[in-house]
Amino acid sequence: MVSQESASRQIAMVLDLNKCIGCQTCTIACKKLWNKDTGTNYAYWNNVETLPGTGYPRDWTKIGGRTEQGEVKAGRIPNLDDEYGRAWNFNHEEVRKGSGKGEGKPWLRPDKAPAWGANWDEDRGAGDYPQDNHYFYLPRLCNHCTHPACLDACPRSAIEKRLEDGIVLVDQDRCHGYRFCVEACPYKKVYFDTERQVTTKCIFCLPRVEEGVAPACARQCPGRLRFVGYLDDEKGPIWKLVNGFKVALPLHPEFGLGPNVFYVPPMSPRKLDEKGRPTGEPRIPTDYLVRLFGEDVRDSLATLEDERAKRRRGETSELMDLLIAYDWNENFALGPRAREVL
Ligand code: SF4
Ligand code: SF4
Ligand code: SF4
Repeated sequence: MVSQESASRQIAMVLDLNKCIGCQTCTIACKKLWNKDTGTNYAYWNNVETLPGTGYPRDWTKIGGRTEQGEVKAGRIPNLDDEYGRAWNFNHEEVRKGSGKGEGKPWLRPDKAPAWGANWDEDRGAGDYPQDNHYFYLPRLCNHCTHPACLDACPRSAIEKRLEDGIVLVDQDRCHGYRFCVEACPYKKVYFDTERQVTTKCIFCLPRVEEGVAPACARQCPGRLRFVGYLDDEKGPIWKLVNGFKVALPLHPEFGLGPNVFYVPPMSPRKLDEKGRPTGEPRIPTDYLVRLFGEDVRDSLATLEDERAKRRRGETSELMDLLIAYDWNENFALGPRAREVL
């Protein structure tokens, strides 16, 4: 196994969940650039799910997989129909041949009543209006883990963690399509190409990163909430947010894989009591965030509250300035070409 201990550097991403508007621009940027094959119609290397919610694939946290003390704990492969959700077919031909005049023109509609699909529960959230209704968006991609379960599970040694930047890649010439990696990844971020019979996953936009250009999902994000750089770069935003201010946290650290995608947790307004007065409790229950990001989320939220209060008092806050991204150049510590569009 090639792990980060032997990789000389680790590239990483931080996403500030307080700024994601759920527009899916990142999802489409990735899909259009890398992942248009028919056999992966259903697959999103980057997806954005609404939480609380079921996610994509549905209830992925319950499907399992991981490595424990060197032992691969296989989960299972999500099914296409009601966990990933097949792409819907529309009556394009019928509409195209329609008269286009008056009542005879057919409407564009799915060929059968949809019962499930990615983002089925988008914007539904939890709680009761107006007391404590809430939701937030969680963009997800492969975590390019320090201890990748996908790599450990592959009997063909077809998955590599690159020494120079820690990016985890599938060698599709070696892959025989056994799908042990799909079973093993607890984040369910490896996908099977049903036509080519090999697995595919996020490549951290390797050809762009090698040119010092930011990954497409980060570059195209209108919320400017994604930061990209190397974990050991103490002047860069990743080190500052993860190790300096300690506000950016891995998702499900209890899986034990050492994810290298980190999240600034969502702050929320206060719950209201029955008379509509704000209480001391946040709308997004802190216990729920602990289940996502671990106990460290309490300190992260406290730091965010403190720094925001400083700005409200008219004081300076390096953390808030960094997260607001006044200067977007600072989001990408990859060199002078980082913001180019390729
Ligand atoms: Fe592998 Fe899954 Fe980790 Fe990505 S998130 S490196 S696919 S185990
Ligand atoms: Fe897709 Fe690149 Fe983002 Fe990975 S880093 S999810 S390949 S756009
Ligand atoms: Fe969120 Fe940015 Fe993706 Fe839009 S492009 S869904 S704001 S991460």
